[in-house]
Order: sequence, then structure tokens, then C-alpha cells
Amino acid sequence: MTLNKPHVLLTGGAGYIGSHTYVALVEAGYQPVILDDFSNSHPVVLDRLQHLTGQRVVCERGDVLHTGLVTEVLQRHGCVAAIHFAGLKAVGESVEQPLRYYRTNVGGLVSLLQAMETADCRSVVFSSSATVYGDPAHIPVTEQSPCMPESPYAHTKLVCENILASLKGADPSWRVGVLRYFNPVGAHPSGLIGEDPSGAPNNLMPYVTQVAVGKRAKLRVFGNDYATPDGTGVRDYLHVSDLAEGHVAAVRALLAREQSFTVNLGTGEGTSVLGVLDAFERASGQPIPFEFAPRRAGDVAKYFADVSMAEDLLGWRATRSIDDMCRDSWRWQQNNPDGYRTAGNAPTSPVHSLRAGVASPALTGGVV
Ligand code: NAD
Ligand code: UDP
Repeated sequence: MTLNKPHVLLTGGAGYIGSHTYVALVEAGYQPVILDDFSNSHPVVLDRLQHLTGQRVVCERGDVLHTGLVTEVLQRHGCVAAIHFAGLKAVGESVEQPLRYYRTNVGGLVSLLQAMETADCRSVVFSSSATVYGDPAHIPVTEQSPCMPESPYAHTKLVCENILASLKGADPSWRVGVLRYFNPVGAHPSGLIGEDPSGAPNNLMPYVTQVAVGKRAKLRVFGNDYATPDGTGVRDYLHVSDLAEGHVAAVRALLAREQSFTVNLGTGEGTSVLGVLDAFERASGQPIPFEFAPRRAGDVAKYFADVSMAEDLLGWRATRSIDDMCRDSWRWQQNNPDGYRTAGNAPTSPVHSLRAGVASPALTGGVV
């Protein structure tokens, strides 16, 4: 009975991290409600979520910048909390289009918070990013490390964190969970949902999987002269299913306690680019062609998280290994060489027809 389950709004819930969090929330006994404009996702994901959870998916199509729509959705579903994933996330693009990034990421959060205030729903989990730390002087990175964002994207995340802190300061009834993600990779072990970048991937793991599946000739390893054991960049890769479970822990903590928090979500372990390649070759059983290329502008040599606060406050820690991440990424890519647009993946359920009659076309909701 979905009526008795606590309903949680997932803005951007059709995207990469949101879809995995949807599954984790259902498994934990919540009823997630997706609000997504599908600007960077595909409706086929809804069929996959229905298949994975065995229950009707609740999804509203709309833009989080439409405060009235968000309010209406929160009220109609009686949401007790929201997780805010909706936003733009490409660092390079944010340098070229800063206003678009500020409007969507900062404006989107303000719109959501206004809607939540009207709907009397004051528990929110925010998708922040380790990019707020910039190039950290000390590793592992703790939540007390100075925030020195370098890109407009990272600045939008820090501005959002500051807005949430101001709101909490003005009205202590707000419960705010800020999650600073390190490097989410991997896919659901079913191979049914995963990361579906449009165009050439910027990030390492989706690029590697596209090389493995033959869509790209070879990986360019950006820099082999860093001060790291093998000279290539080191990051804290985190399985997206662990990350999804971190959101469940965050919602649970917010609803159970009066406390707000800002925590890192990572594994606490660093893996180099060559380390990822090795793991991927083991997972896929095939060599991955690569060449060394110059360093990528703006990259830092090495960082990984101190994850003790997440464990202390949320009782959460990552359990999946880099081998698990590679195996699941590979299964997703093999099953869906062109992501959700792979031939034969056309949406099947009637749910994708938009519901008519809600205010205006821009506010039309598609209920799945
Ligand atoms: P994603 O692009 O796969 O998902 C974002 C979803 O939001 C998409 O489905 C998109 O259609 C939707 N969306 C975008 N603008 C919207 C709007 N105005 N109204 C409604 N929906 C909108 O991204 P993701 O990787 O799942 O990331 C989710 C969040 O996590 C983002 O805020 C991102 O900045 C943050 N984050 C991601 C990473 C990462 O490496 N993926 C790392 C750190 C933080
Ligand atoms: N990287 C690479 N080739 C690529 C993409 C990334 O060598 O095509 C390297 C990158 O320089 C960094 C690591 O892989 O050292 C992780 O990069 P990603 O973009 O995935 O994450 P971020 O740099 O944002 O942490």
C-alpha cells in the first residue's frame, strides 16, 4: 500500500543517481515521487524502474523552476521530504554557460525550497559535490577542509549549500542533509539502469565502457606525470548503489532526528586511472586500448574522502569494490550499447502519455 509509505520527492529522479536512489528508497519502504523534465534523461528509465521494483512508478514531468508545479506535486503526494538531484553537472559546460548553470542549479534549489515551505515539507537532502573543495591541500578530505570551488559548477554547489545554511539559520524547523559526492560510477547489478551520457563522455568510467563496447577507439589517459604511485590521477570512485543507499540513510536520519548535516560520501580509497583500467580489464576480460595524453586543464592529482562522519552520523559506509563498479558498468554498457536509446528500448507503458488539463502545457504532469 503506497498510501501508508512516507512519500519522498526526487527532483531529477529519472537521472543517473536519482534512478538508483529510486530503487533503494523503494527497497527501504519509501514511496519515491519523481519530478523530472527529462532534459537529461529518457522515459525508458521509467519502464526499467517499474520492472526492478515491481510496482507502478510515480513520476511527474516538469521543471523544478516552476515553483507552483513543485508545490502542487508536494501537496498532492503528501511528501515528507525531498531529495534534490535536478540540475546541470558538466564542469566544462559551466565555464561556457555560467548563467544557465546558476539559473538551473541555484534557481532550481530556491524554487524547490519555496515550494517546500508552502507545502510545509521541511526535510531536504541536497546533491552537492566534492568539487566544492577545489584542489585540497590535505588528503583525505574532511568536511572541515576549506571549500575553494574552481568552476562555475562547483560555485553553484557551494552557493546552494550556503542558501541551505541561511534557511536553517532563519528557521530551525528545517532539516538539511548536504551530501558531497566523490566520484559516482557503476550501475545497478541488473544492468537495467545506469549512466547514459549524451555525446562523448567527459568522465572516465563511461568513456572506458564505450571503448570496451567498440563505440570509441581508445581512452586518452590525461597525464602520467602526477605525483601519484603510477603518475595518473587518483580519485575516490563510489558505486552508485552505495551512493543511493547513502541517500536512504540521509532521509532516514533527517526524518528520525532534528539534526542537519553535511557529509562526504565516498569509499575513503583512491584509485588511479591505470588502476581503473586494470579493474575494468579484469571485469570485461578484454584489453582496453589507451594512450597517454597531456594533463586535462583543471584536474587535480589526487583526492579521496574521509568518510568517518557519514559512518558516525548516518550509519552508512560503502561496501562495493572497484571490481564491482567495473563489472556493473560493463554489464549496463553491454546490455545497452546506446544507453536508453538502444534499439528495442522504446517505452512500452502507457504512462508516458502526459496527463492533460494541469494548468498549462509547461505544467503538465505525466503520472506513471
Ligand atoms: P543526471 O543529469 O543524470 O540527472 C539529473 C536529472 O535532472 C536528469 O534526469 C534531468 O533530466 C533532470 N533535470 C535537469 N534540470 C531539471 C529541471 N530544471 N527540472 C527538472 N528536472 C531537471 O545527473 P546525475 O549524475 O544523476 O546527478 C544528480 C545530481 O548529483 C546533480 O545535481 C549533480 O550535480 C550531482 N552530482 C553528480 C555527480 C556525478 O558524477 N554524476 C557528482 C557530484 C554531484
Ligand atoms: N580521465 C582520463 N581520461 C578521460 C576521462 C578522465 O584520463 O577520458 C581521468 C581524469 O584526468 C581524472 C580521472 O580520470 O584523473 C577521473 O576523471 P573524471 O572526469 O571521471 O572525474 P573528475 O576529474 O571530475 O574527478
